Amino acid sequence: MTATSPRLRAVLGALPAYVPGRSVMRPDGSPAYKLSSNENPYPPLPAVQKVLTDALSGVNRYPDLAATGLVTALAAAHQVEPTQIATGTGSVGVLQQIVQATCDADDEVVYAWRSFEAYPIVTAIAGARSVQVPLLPDERHDLPAMAAAVTDRTRLVLLCTPNNPTGRAIRQGELDELLDAVPGDVLVVLDEAYVEFVRDPKGADGIATFRARENVAVLRTFSKAYGLAGLRVGYAVAPEPVATALRATAVPFGVNILAQVAALASLEARDELLTRVDDLVAEREQVTRALRQQGWGLPDSEANFVWLRLGERTAEFAAACEAAGVVVRAYGTDGCRVTIGEPAANDAFLTVAAEFLGVAR
Ligand SMILES: *Cc1c(COP(=O)(O)O)cnc(C)c1O
Repeated sequence: MTATSPRLRAVLGALPAYVPGRSVMRPDGSPAYKLSSNENPYPPLPAVQKVLTDALSGVNRYPDLAATGLVTALAAAHQVEPTQIATGTGSVGVLQQIVQATCDADDEVVYAWRSFEAYPIVTAIAGARSVQVPLLPDERHDLPAMAAAVTDRTRLVLLCTPNNPTGRAIRQGELDELLDAVPGDVLVVLDEAYVEFVRDPKGADGIATFRARENVAVLRTFSKAYGLAGLRVGYAVAPEPVATALRATAVPFGVNILAQVAALASLEARDELLTRVDDLVAEREQVTRALRQQGWGLPDSEANFVWLRLGERTAEFAAACEAAGVVVRAYGTDGCRVTIGEPAANDAFLTVAAEFLGVAR
């Protein structure tokens, strides 16, 4: 008998790894500023922490399978039917369900590149094929090229707006043109993980577009603006047959008790949380202005991060930041994405950025 090991799917060997933003320590042992995962720098509101504490004594029970309270509140907030909402373990969990619900082996998923690193992973795991359409030189989605990339094998078009990691948002006019060109049996998903940070008045309105079309779904998350990344809860607003399919492909009880109560309490505290988002947007504008004054070229961001296309100097810049106690996210030889954090973190980042160019802050 020859020694062997369990046979695994070949596709796994070729999967790109999901790279989490790193948390590192400074040489003196204090934690570095983590500007590498687009997290919210602020902890949950006291009211949210209270419902979490109260729910702890009930975790011997399974959660509500249908997350009824949360789904009802989301439906009311978006003025859609509860049957058009599907929750999941983060919006990445919901995205995985979407791919499973739409793609058989060798079906095609069209998305921009560079974009969110989960897209190639969830596509490959489903056995589907990635069709990556390069971003435009100004870091926006090339929507006409994406529409042209749709074939009769395409089941899904993923649009990331604002785009992670470049920060550019899709505008309503160009979105409508893409939707007019894409066949109605292809699901178009708008990944709006950062939508609360968009200030472009021409930015696409995903929910209104969902209402106007039969083949559009919108992905939202509690991980970014709502600051619940550690609890893993997101959702889709989708046409009813799609939402039903997402419930069918969900891991049972995936959205746990703590995630359900915290998401609901955060929705109820939406106005207070959006004030924090306003503060982060103001910081983003200030960081963008300061970088430009230093001599950096960077696109306008509509999200909670900025994008520096550093090319061959990407790793060198990331290392310089880390040496100064600031962790950013480096992407090969493309560039670095830097999350907008609390003012002290942003200041520390701006200091390294100036030093890197050899200019004064
Ligand atoms: C952070 C992010 C998400 C959210 O992921 P969760 O699983 O909800 O934490 C989704 N899409 C994009 C593009 C993101 O950057």
